Amino acid sequence: MTETFSGSFTQQEPIPDEAIEAALAVLRHGRLHRYNLARGEQGETALLEQEFAAQTGARYCLAVASGGYALATALRAVGVGPGDAVLTNAFTLAPVPGAIASVGARPVFVGVTESLTIDLDDLEAKAGMARVLMLSHMRGHLCDMDRLMQICDDAGITVIEDCAHTMGAAWNGVSSGRQGAVGCYSCQTYKHVNSGEGGLLVTDDEEIAARAVMMSGSYMLYERHLAAPGPEVFERIKYHTPNISGRMDNLRAAILRPQLRALDAQVARWNERYQRIEAGLRGTPGLTVIERPEAETYVGSSIQFLLLDWAADKVQEVLRRCIARGVELKWFGTPEPVGFTSRYDSWRYAESAPMPASDRVLAGIVDMRVPLTFSLEDCDLIARIIRAEVGAVWQNG
Ligand SMILES: *Cc1c(COP(=O)(O)O)cnc(C)c1O
Repeated sequence: MTETFSGSFTQQEPIPDEAIEAALAVLRHGRLHRYNLARGEQGETALLEQEFAAQTGARYCLAVASGGYALATALRAVGVGPGDAVLTNAFTLAPVPGAIASVGARPVFVGVTESLTIDLDDLEAKAGMARVLMLSHMRGHLCDMDRLMQICDDAGITVIEDCAHTMGAAWNGVSSGRQGAVGCYSCQTYKHVNSGEGGLLVTDDEEIAARAVMMSGSYMLYERHLAAPGPEVFERIKYHTPNISGRMDNLRAAILRPQLRALDAQVARWNERYQRIEAGLRGTPGLTVIERPEAETYVGSSIQFLLLDWAADKVQEVLRRCIARGVELKWFGTPEPVGFTSRYDSWRYAESAPMPASDRVLAGIVDMRVPLTFSLEDCDLIARIIRAEVGAVWQNG
């Protein structure tokens, strides 16, 4: 009998009851705009910012409309403007080079290693080319952050961290997003907390924080924030900082606060699932499991493996055979961008030189979501299916 899997790779868990209750309370009082407060009231958005700052150990936090908006705001807040070069990962998702392009800047792509992290030798070689690195912790893989920060500090490069896949992750116990000058997170449905859309930005730098708050659309209401710098900092920047509205609203914030309180427990559940799949895949001939460094606390909300140096038609055959059994895999080697997958040479608005070593890795990356709606038995079954189909194609040469 051939086993098949019938679950959905895009079905997340329902919004927790506590979050639904909080959302209903906001709907009932009607003050959805973050600055629409009753006398003495602390709004859901301001409270969310205060709580996420505490959770990550950041001095300042700003909630915004999306992760991509947080990235673009961070770039503007550190002074990136039209024509500037910004270093970033060749292996990431489209909103990252998109944020750079949205401020008129120019991405300079840095390669990817077989660990699926940024190639630090390539970064070192390109360090003189830009003043800012937008570092994407793509698919939750953290590079050697100590070496990365050393390279960037030595070269005077400001680091903005894209933590869309690392909310809840850490390097040597330091929360992801806290090594660079700014950390940016996404609260979109497919990430680690779900408000449909939404983003968070954290920093310890008072001027970056004040500029980000003004840009997000605070008008002169910044004193209603609970995780922003004091008014004296806004006095210095308020006449020179444009309003580029992208605020979060109280409804989304209300949905997010209980989810953030549950984040650590959810991370543990993701990792149980990830580890079951990883254990099931380990030792499959032709398939390379991505080893996780000891310093990394990761969030296994997706899993990747490499079919390194496989012919394209063989990888495609694996994908076809797996989907026929209900297992949806994504491949970063496809020349045409499909769904969420695209690669540095798909973004034709940005110039790029060929990167053969990275192309070899990209051509082998297979990716799969691990939603929490999967049971541990589902994970075992999925691993058995992948193992069998990779094995079948591998054996046929
Ligand atoms: C989702 C995502 C973003 C952007 O988040 P949005 O909230 O969708 O704008 C940025 N970087 C990566 C790697 C992502 O996956």
